Amino acid sequence: DDDDYDYDDDDDDAIESNQNMTDNPISFKDKVVIITGSGGGLGKQYALQYAQRGAKVVVNDLGGTLGGSGSSNKAADLVVSEIESKGGIAVANYDNIVTNPTGILQTAINSFGRVDILINNAGILKDASFAKMTQKQFEDVLDVHLNGAFKLTQLCWPIFQKQKFGRVVMTASPAGLYGNFGQANYSAAKLGLVGLCETLAKEGVKYNIKVNAIAPLAKSRMTETILPPDVLNKLLPEKIAPLVLYLTSDIVDSSGSIYEVAAGLFAQIRWERSGGLYLNPNKSFTPEAILNKLKDISSFDPSTTEYPTQLNDYNFVYSKTSMLPEN
Ligand code: NAD
Repeated sequence: DDDDYDYDDDDDDAIESNQNMTDNPISFKDKVVIITGSGGGLGKQYALQYAQRGAKVVVNDLGGTLGGSGSSNKAADLVVSEIESKGGIAVANYDNIVTNPTGILQTAINSFGRVDILINNAGILKDASFAKMTQKQFEDVLDVHLNGAFKLTQLCWPIFQKQKFGRVVMTASPAGLYGNFGQANYSAAKLGLVGLCETLAKEGVKYNIKVNAIAPLAKSRMTETILPPDVLNKLLPEKIAPLVLYLTSDIVDSSGSIYEVAAGLFAQIRWERSGGLYLNPNKSFTPEAILNKLKDISSFDPSTTEYPTQLNDYNFVYSKTSMLPEN
């Protein structure tokens, strides 16, 4: 049954049939996918949908609490059993992404002989207002989200380069893009993942390695205490998975892109540079001059706004600005 768009509402029938109009369903047959933290929440839904489309799935989960303490095999085992009961292929791994990323890759290689796709999804929360946040709360969250994703991606990277195929998804967050009260550690880690994604996308170009980032919002134990139940029930994690699958398919074009995704929303996020203020660099500048020109600096007039995707060419900027009058 190819129809796995899980619409409950009759009003959505028309949309549903549009979405299914494809002659070439996206398949993950013969692909091996590692999904960190896939014993529950978003990762579990990814695991189920990859397996349903033929992938061999490494279900990694430490099985600890939301704050990252403790461990248990149960979370990963249950997801593997569910996949197997539906005829899919999966193996459980219980390694901590922080202390044993090698073990996670080893499970993929030992069980399936390869790895094609890596979904960096494992995460914890240690929320505290900034004034009260301890060094440990800050570092623990950076360790799981950012350092964990760094380590496992770097282990997979030479394999991806050699086989000239690799797909990576980084799990960012709206909290990283916009900031969120009580989440200084989490926001820093999540925007760090966006930067990592943007650089890896550039380094991956000649090896057919595509790296994208998502900023999701979905019902899971991370959100169930902060959002009301009626809202949560519209934010089902299975609605996020189709974008993740698309972004890791053979045919995906995007790399280095960021997507915000929640309920039925799928939207791309990008950087924007205002038309800006150009002054001759041979002049001396004063804070008052900045204040007087603040409107120019901060104006996102559509006719002059740019959407940079790489470092500015500073020689170009210099030559442009040094031609300006000095007074
Ligand atoms: P979740 O708690 O259900 O899933 C995270 C999983 O990661 C858990 O199963 C946990 O056991 C596992 N994990 C934690 N530390 C680990 C470690 N060191 N090694 C291996 N596994 C570990 O929460 P979720 O909402 O499904 O979160 C999935 C990802 O999505 C996270 O990166 C989270 O920050 C991100 N995210 C979620 C939301 C949301 O609205 N739910 C919003 C933005 C970002």
